[in-house]
Amino acid sequence: MRVLVIEDEPDLRNAIAQALSEEGLAVDQAEEGQTGYHKALAWDYDAIVLDIMLPLMSGWEVLSALRKTKSTPVLILTARDATTDRVRGLDGGADDYLIKPFSVLELVARIRALIRRSAGQATSHIEVGSICVNLADRTVTKCDQLIALTAREFAIVELLVLHRGKLITRTAIYDHIFNVDDDSLSNLVDVHISHIRKKLGADFVETRRGQGYIVHD
Ligand code: CA
Repeated sequence: MRVLVIEDEPDLRNAIAQALSEEGLAVDQAEEGQTGYHKALAWDYDAIVLDIMLPLMSGWEVLSALRKTKSTPVLILTARDATTDRVRGLDGGADDYLIKPFSVLELVARIRALIRRSAGQATSHIEVGSICVNLADRTVTKCDQLIALTAREFAIVELLVLHRGKLITRTAIYDHIFNVDDDSLSNLVDVHISHIRKKLGADFVETRRGQGYIVHD
């Protein structure tokens, strides 16, 4: 999953980006509103963290401009004393909000829930045959046995099961999982998929040669 963080305070932006990366999410950053808005338009992010008080273009301006064309889930960050921001944000098309200062762990949990809901997934448990994926705990069990996956492997499994029944191209996996500065070869996705198939069973993921991968419902 790829998340855009639009926040002008460098320490906070870096802390958010680091926490999301550690959870296996790919993160892009913008330090002011205009760049953030253009990135948000150019790319189909899985979610956006949007500060309200931003240089060049405020969070409100970014949100209202973005909502003309895109329904990307947005979590806004508002100042503690701005009591009307919450209502204004939700009325303006934000999907969730946090009041500063907040716990970065809570932000990560909220982002995960937003991504899940926007994929039409109400609960955090997804069962595919004998495989059970817990999106909240980030664990996978096979026939009730816990299976150890790397963060990357889990991120790929998460993407595939959230869109189960749909073909996911190798490029889409690459774009949603890997950071731009990742030193990786194009066939790395295949390597991860092959590890996933070894751990969860070859039946779990179907390979469509030259097209991509699909997890069936
Ligand atoms: Ca700010």
